[in-house]
Amino acid sequence: MLLEEMSYTEVEAYLLEKDIVLIPIGSVEQHSPYGIIGTDFITAESIAREVGRRLDIIVAPTLPYGMSQHHMAFAGTITLSPKTYVEVIKEIVISLLEHGFRRVVFINGHGGNINPVKTAFDQLKYENYRGIFEIISWYLLQKVQDIENVLYGDLNGYHATPSEISITKFIRPKAFRNKPKGEKPVEKVETYWPLSKDEFRNVYPDGRMNSAPWLAKENDGKLIFEEAVRVIIENVRKIMEKEII
Ligand SMILES: [Zn+2]
Repeated sequence: MLLEEMSYTEVEAYLLEKDIVLIPIGSVEQHSPYGIIGTDFITAESIAREVGRRLDIIVAPTLPYGMSQHHMAFAGTITLSPKTYVEVIKEIVISLLEHGFRRVVFINGHGGNINPVKTAFDQLKYENYRGIFEIISWYLLQKVQDIENVLYGDLNGYHATPSEISITKFIRPKAFRNKPKGEKPVEKVETYWPLSKDEFRNVYPDGRMNSAPWLAKENDGKLIFEEAVRVIIENVRKIMEKEII
């Protein structure tokens, strides 16, 4: 059920039965020459919408922009500062709570979002907002990582991973018509974190982080997508059963 396609009367009727909403979040950032800039929000959105469809629960519009400051040395990246992102997340949650939603679950596709989203949750609780606020990052789910490990082993890496690129190939195949296919060396770089945008580009010159995105395949994407959906459904069901204090 997509919030953007509902009327307010339908939302009011939903709220008589259920109080959960999913919100896909990601980033608009470089994913190497092999991957597309929308990777993180496209993966999160497609997974969240499928979970919403199968569980008959509302999925709010995707927040595509995230915290991507460390990718700003690559053209096309658009970032919010952590401070702004915390406020955006807070105000989305507060809006939903005002209407009677009590379980707000962010389905996340981007590592840089996790700290600010958790900070927003801490602040909401400090301000005594009632409800359950959760973030589920699909690529951190153990069962998803088990599949990635079988498919790519160490070559999955940390950014522009063949796993996330496979999902976008599955969802948006036409976007890959002109992307490169050649292989490059995969260097295991040990560094510190966080990095400034210039440090990032020095350490990871083509935007990959220890990954082999050319291994991405549409069929792998379907497999990883299905597993992420399956595991998130289990997690969301548990969230729906929790008692709100
Ligand atoms: Zn990504």
